Amino acid sequence: MLCLPAVYYLSTMTKSDSTSSLTDAGQGVIFSIKKYSMHDGPGIRTTVFLKGCPLNCWWCHNPESKKLAPEPVKQGANRPFSGFAGSDGKVGRIMTVDEVIAEVKKDEIFYDESGGGVTFSGGEPLMQPDFLVALLHAAKRYDFHTAVDTSGFASAEVFECILPLTDLFLYDLKLMDDDAHRKYAGTPVAPVLDNLAWLARSGANVIVRIPIVPGITDTPENLDSIIRFLLERSVLRNVSILALNHLGDQKYIRLGMENKLGTLKVPSQERMAELQERFIRKGLHCTIGG
Ligand code: SF4
Repeated sequence: MLCLPAVYYLSTMTKSDSTSSLTDAGQGVIFSIKKYSMHDGPGIRTTVFLKGCPLNCWWCHNPESKKLAPEPVKQGANRPFSGFAGSDGKVGRIMTVDEVIAEVKKDEIFYDESGGGVTFSGGEPLMQPDFLVALLHAAKRYDFHTAVDTSGFASAEVFECILPLTDLFLYDLKLMDDDAHRKYAGTPVAPVLDNLAWLARSGANVIVRIPIVPGITDTPENLDSIIRFLLERSVLRNVSILALNHLGDQKYIRLGMENKLGTLKVPSQERMAELQERFIRKGLHCTIGG
């Protein structure tokens, strides 16, 4: 993985026909580009969803994000799969940096008027590090506000590369206990905490996003542990709590994947308000959603 110089992306980048390398500094795999997003950072934004994620959260509502490669999806009659599902019947598309930025650029007038910009999400966008770095450089060439939505599960080296190019990190913090994180998210928690601590020491602009999954992430032990971690770091004062939703249920069926999300309950509005109050009482700025 290279921290590319700012001029790198200016060189001619052509889409490779090779399938042996799906992602590099010139191209990567995207599963959706969402316009006019209001929940992935400030203002009106375009959110670019990079495919591939090393985690396997039970509550994931974007199961098409998990595998890096484009994959077959069953199309419903008059009900196309959300995101990119090409005529080849696969979700996910290989795109060049220039192609992605051309899409993002179409809405720059909205960014100017609203203080918005571009958000790179996933999946786990840091799983395509060279592509992400090149996208961030390209976005900065147009002076777009940049946000990266991450699970935090990536190498420290990747975070070092993207920090100078990222105006805002939307950083997921799910479970503080290692056993629970392995069980419900599929990976150890240590890299997630180490990278967040490093971002805090580096003075990064971070909003910590906590998925609220009743009985799993909203236990008093987990929430107290999260609050302690944040309060020990003065720059980590902004929190968003995100209610589990079932928007992804149908996608699991159409991808032929096991759906653990379907077994989980959605928290009530009252419960979300109660949890918001819990964070606010501890001196944190906490919003519901976003
Ligand atoms: S980190 Fe996000 S994209 Fe990856 S499995 Fe978990 S919820 Fe899904």
